[in-house]
Amino acid sequence: MTVLLLAGTGEARALSQRLTGRSVIASLAGVTRKPKPYGVPMRIGGFGGVEGLKSFLKDEGITAILDATHPYAAQMPQRAATIGAEYNLPYLRLLRPPWQPQPGDQWHDVDNLQAAAAQMPPHSTVFLATGGQSADHIAPLHAHTIWLRRVDDTGPAPWPKGGVLVGLPSDDPQVEAELLRAHDITHVIAKNSGGPMGYAKLEAARDLGLPVYLLARPSHPQAPTTTSLDTAESFVKAYAP
Ligand code: NAP
Repeated sequence: MTVLLLAGTGEARALSQRLTGRSVIASLAGVTRKPKPYGVPMRIGGFGGVEGLKSFLKDEGITAILDATHPYAAQMPQRAATIGAEYNLPYLRLLRPPWQPQPGDQWHDVDNLQAAAAQMPPHSTVFLATGGQSADHIAPLHAHTIWLRRVDDTGPAPWPKGGVLVGLPSDDPQVEAELLRAHDITHVIAKNSGGPMGYAKLEAARDLGLPVYLLARPSHPQAPTTTSLDTAESFVKAYAP
């Protein structure tokens, strides 16, 4: 009995630390160059689409799937839930609830970067906190100055004004506020990822009175879901005793 832990989030890693010694394989897409260590064996890289995932499940004798991918992972949750149902494999999604606005927040929900760009005044200076993959979809924002934060250094920014800020988010709102001030940020674009990591920038934006554009989450599969790490741990332990 082996459980597939679809990973790539802090919760997946935290969960893996509770599962050491059990028959669990953690899977990472390979987006981050130097992923932090997990408590269970890891495999890294895409499976190769639907057929690749099906082959992996068969080859490894997977008996259940715990999906702890990111709330903005658009493909994998739907795919894993569908294949899990097809193969009669128990599936559970561990999903962070979204952040809720607090007094003083100026949040605007938008579908995508294009919609955010359309709502901002000309010559805005944008802190783009939507992850390194956004670099490929940044064209609608080219009229503005863009500071994109990403984990890996992939070289200079290919857009006309602004640049790349390499690093992880701080959990200290004052550090985040200093970053926003230092770059004269007028608008923030972010994902409503939920959880503790990444929230400090929204607190900083609130303190500085900055508007924040939050990208809509992708749709989720109609499948069992929990927000509790304990429930996810019990699920895995039931199938990987
Ligand atoms: P996605 O749209 O769901 O997946 C894109 C492709 O990446 C999939 O088709 C699959 O490739 C591969 N993949 C995704 N998750 C995988 C996993 N756990 N193990 C192996 N392959 C995986 O996801 P994404 O938004 O590109 O994110 C990729 C990974 O980064 C996810 O694991 C997610 O948890 C993590 N992440 C995403 C975000 C975000 O904002 N989107 C933020 C933080 C972390 P194949 O078709 O080749 O199998």
